[in-house]
Amino acid sequence: MKIYNTLTRRKDEFVPLEPGKVKMYVCGPTVYNFIHIGNARPMIVFDTVRRYFEYKGYEVNYVSNFTDVDDKIIKEAIEEGVDADTISKRYIEECKKDMEGMNIKPATKNPLATEEICGMLDMISTLIESGHAYAADDGTVYFRTKSFKDYGKLSHKNLDELQSGFREIKVTGEEGKEDPSDFVLWKPKKEGEPFWESPWCEGRPGWHIECSVMAKKYLGDQIDIHAGGEDLIFPHHENEIAQSEAANGKEFAKYWMHNAFLNIDNKKMSKSLGNFFTVREIGEKYDLQVLRFFMLSAHYRSPLNFSADLMEASKNGLVRILNSVDKLNGLLDLAPEGEMTEEERENEKQAAALKEKYEAAMDDDFNTADAISAVFELVKLANSTADENSTKAYVSLLKEMIVSLCDVLGIITEKKEEILDSEIEEMIAARQQARKEKNFALADEIRGKLLEKGIILEDTREGVKWKRA
Ligand code: AMP
Ligand code: ZN
Repeated sequence: MKIYNTLTRRKDEFVPLEPGKVKMYVCGPTVYNFIHIGNARPMIVFDTVRRYFEYKGYEVNYVSNFTDVDDKIIKEAIEEGVDADTISKRYIEECKKDMEGMNIKPATKNPLATEEICGMLDMISTLIESGHAYAADDGTVYFRTKSFKDYGKLSHKNLDELQSGFREIKVTGEEGKEDPSDFVLWKPKKEGEPFWESPWCEGRPGWHIECSVMAKKYLGDQIDIHAGGEDLIFPHHENEIAQSEAANGKEFAKYWMHNAFLNIDNKKMSKSLGNFFTVREIGEKYDLQVLRFFMLSAHYRSPLNFSADLMEASKNGLVRILNSVDKLNGLLDLAPEGEMTEEERENEKQAAALKEKYEAAMDDDFNTADAISAVFELVKLANSTADENSTKAYVSLLKEMIVSLCDVLGIITEKKEEILDSEIEEMIAARQQARKEKNFALADEIRGKLLEKGIILEDTREGVKWKRA
């Protein structure tokens, strides 16, 4: 398998640190609002990377954090008149719902910055002891970039250039810096902000330190893959490398993977530009599988422009696959047992070649676009060769192949059972009747049945309200 490595700027052969195992760390979102579909791109892409490793037989330890202390969270909390914790907890829950909708596998661990402060204090102390960091008079702790000779190796920036660039920009409150390119590890609290005790001042961590600490704690000093969106290359990942390698004395991550942006009108989709759609909004118009399929229709290192037309095209493509699996399922019930015919054996070879084509595309730096076209060819083969006369062996071979290759892409091929609004209303009426008759067991059973179909009931003063999950 070949992976494009931002560090080496070429496709490198994947060799795991430990045979059969992959240790992967993916930088997660800052939780101050609903996630937008730009944030969803790395989630979908790296979940697919994980699934492909698992398909190949690797055991994957997948860690992805939630940044739950940050200026934006504090700002939102002040605006709403609640504490920062209320904001971050709320949006972690909402983010997890969106991830489930997009069929993202739960991570092995989702550490929270606020629960890892001790580890951060330890790493900062180690860095100070070895001269890689220093505390200024106001208690701010900075990383001394000049002390780390490899600074700039990921973003391929030269420290001298960086320093002259930084010299132009003077940040208020950071007057205690020895050098303009030094970055914050720990900063003093401001009025009304969450803070923790530390040897330097009451305060909170800088952003970069959390990922170095969490990766070390949950995966070890060295990991196979570190990933995130390309805006994280500098300064976030560059600073993570400096912190981790200076503290641990070992190469931090072997492969650095970065997805390109999801754009809208060829501009990066972002909260600050206001040109975004949340996953929640898209979920009201489409099954989130369509969003997932759309994201994977391009290679992860190519910019992808979001448009209604492309979403419609993805929806149609997805329906073609689901219909084909549906047809194969129907044929399976009728198909005769017994050996495959000679013609079927020939077709089986074609199917196997398409599976190889799919794997070759994925082995080549996770080229999901080409992998999807191999799936479409397989669907075409199934639609043109499987019929009422096909043997069970042949039909099930095609079906299993399509299902397993779609599963790697995180696409669920079984059609979801639809439930109409009128059926929901009828079931709610039956539940109300059961409650009137004090038959609470039946009422609960009906609520459970609705929940299984993704319908959530809420008993309010104005009566029962329902929504689709
Ligand atoms: P943030 O919450 O801004 O730290 O972002 C969380 C993740 O989403 C990071 O890996 C970002 O690089 C990624 N990200 C944010 N916006 C986009 C976008 N428009 N396209 C692709 N990735 C993005
Ligand atoms: Zn990170």
